[in-house]
Amino acid sequence: MTELQKQISDIRSRLRNGVRLVAVSKFHPITKLREAYACGQRCFGESRAQELQEKVPQMPADTEWHFIGHLQQNKVKMVVPVVTMIHSVDSLHLLMEIDKQASRLKDLRLNAGLPEKVKVLLQLHVAQEATKFGFTPEELTQMLEDGTWRTCKNLEIAGLMCMATNTEDTEEIHREFLIAKECFDNIQAKFFSNDPNFCECSWGMTEDYDIAMQCGSTIVRIGSGIFGEREY
Ligand SMILES: *Cc1c(COP(=O)(O)O)cnc(C)c1O
Repeated sequence: MTELQKQISDIRSRLRNGVRLVAVSKFHPITKLREAYACGQRCFGESRAQELQEKVPQMPADTEWHFIGHLQQNKVKMVVPVVTMIHSVDSLHLLMEIDKQASRLKDLRLNAGLPEKVKVLLQLHVAQEATKFGFTPEELTQMLEDGTWRTCKNLEIAGLMCMATNTEDTEEIHREFLIAKECFDNIQAKFFSNDPNFCECSWGMTEDYDIAMQCGSTIVRIGSGIFGEREY
């Protein structure tokens, strides 16, 4: 087993039941992704459309791609034909654009073996940094109450995503993930009580995934803990 494969196996042993691992491979070369693939990792997270587009044809067809970074409207058409899930939907406009492109690019998705509908997560802003994207819990409720999102027939809203503040203060991180979990529960009860697809809580990265799992996370997104430091 290589060092990278040991890291993956160590992380797997720490995952709670039912929690899935997205290996965040942004800025890492394809050789490292193949190393992870060789020990059974199928799910990879990328945060830049161009890099994703370059990597997809270099990996086996059963690799599952998740887009986790801030997504600009004009890049949606590059991402939709190749991804299973977009974690970072932070506006109604972006949601509508994903729906539109998923309809236009349906055949490309089907040819790639992907389900017709794109799974998306709505990104919550719970961190203290002003720089992180996403809806506040109030903005999210407002957006859902408005109801326009219900016209999106080519995507599936599968849950919420968030990032905690980048801090050593584990209590603060815990507090933020609990806010996210509470928001998930409220939104599920209020808008998705008849929709079993709304079931994912994507929180937890290298430094905080254990706390995230204590707060109901179902997907963790781990980069440096697997691949080492990123070279920008
Ligand atoms: C880079 C990134 C990660 C992974 O971060 P690590 O600290 O390397 O585990 C997770 N989520 C998002 C949205 C990211 O951009």
